[in-house]
Amino acid sequence: MMFELKMKNRIVRAGFIVLALLSVSCKSPESKGSKTPKAVFIIVDGIAGDVIQTLNPPVLAAISKEGGFTLAHVGGGKASYSETPTISAVGYNSLLTGTWVNKHNVWDNDIAAPNYNYWNLFRIAKQSNPALKTAVFSTWEDNRTKLIGEGLEQAGNVSVDFKFDGLEHDTIKFPHDTSRVFIQRIDEAVSDEAARVISSEGPDLSWVYLEFTDDMGHKFGDSPQFHDAIMRADKQIGKVWDAIKERESKFNEDWLIVITTDHGRDAQTGHNHGGQSDRERLTWIVTNAPQRNAHFDQNPGIVDIFSTICYHLGLQIPEEVHREVDGIPFVGPIDVSDLKVQKDDGKVVLTWKNMSETSGIAEIYVTDTNNFKNGGKDEYKKVGEVPLTQQSYDLDLEKGTFHKVLIKTPRQFANVWVADKNVEQ
Ligand SMILES: [Zn+2]
Repeated sequence: MMFELKMKNRIVRAGFIVLALLSVSCKSPESKGSKTPKAVFIIVDGIAGDVIQTLNPPVLAAISKEGGFTLAHVGGGKASYSETPTISAVGYNSLLTGTWVNKHNVWDNDIAAPNYNYWNLFRIAKQSNPALKTAVFSTWEDNRTKLIGEGLEQAGNVSVDFKFDGLEHDTIKFPHDTSRVFIQRIDEAVSDEAARVISSEGPDLSWVYLEFTDDMGHKFGDSPQFHDAIMRADKQIGKVWDAIKERESKFNEDWLIVITTDHGRDAQTGHNHGGQSDRERLTWIVTNAPQRNAHFDQNPGIVDIFSTICYHLGLQIPEEVHREVDGIPFVGPIDVSDLKVQKDDGKVVLTWKNMSETSGIAEIYVTDTNNFKNGGKDEYKKVGEVPLTQQSYDLDLEKGTFHKVLIKTPRQFANVWVADKNVEQ
């Protein structure tokens, strides 16, 4: 496939120059055998991490037992250039694109001007392998039409093979009522259809979105009504989980399920969200993935789900798109996490956590432009090469206040910006 990108990577070691041909994809290892990988992600709206810990809903607990549960975050880098509103569509798009709002540009639920240059999972799946089947089951139609941008030229003219959404516009079947029972009924229909299609068709990549929990949070705050809505959503997730189990018993398939939420809630009452308080940023991730790496327990971000799904499905991400991804997979082997820029006495220091068990090399690149944002190319200049175990590097930057830093390791790209909070780039 034309998007299978290979690159020449120069590694200097013990005086020899070794030319290694490394794939920059997030391809999963051969050792998974001949099973066909499949992935489902479910977003249940607006449930802070502490609430899931307290309620411990039975289906989520059962899935966690096969894989794991972790507290996680949304909101990007607090008080940094990537700070991201804790608002629904903003969170969904961070999952879909593996980037924070400074890149994907969806600032609220109006979805006024998404930047489709940061490709979403559905576009990557189809470009990587047009034979892959995708599915969206959603209580909100904009997820498909605006965020994925199905059929839009500027979003890559992606098509979704199985879709079940838009029921919120059908006021005959689902008459709107102030108690939001119609949303509860739509979630029920959406989860029924997700279970039915997953069981009968086994799409390669599916997105299930359930809304009612957030409605009850807004209406009643932290309350029995909100908790009841979560237990109801747990049952709906159970239908999808049963469908996956059924597929695995009948077919030679390796299913990944990831369940998360798009934001937490305010600590005072639980009625609101959108800001940067700890509890609004506090989310959670449940997955059945057995081969989680140490990053899963390092407070992963919603952007990491993007990278995890790419890894599991073995999707090939075009290199220029991959360089911009803010996520890191929490399954499979990785080299670095927690890449940061620290400014100290006029010095700019790059730091990271070494996650590799081998003594790999980190190549460090810098560019002063952000042409990618407008569909152009950035020329990266290589500024250094250090062992991953060094975990820091002094950056000698040329003038200017904006720089994109990229580090390339044997298995990964990681990027960070040297930029002020309200950077224009
Ligand atoms: Zn929400």
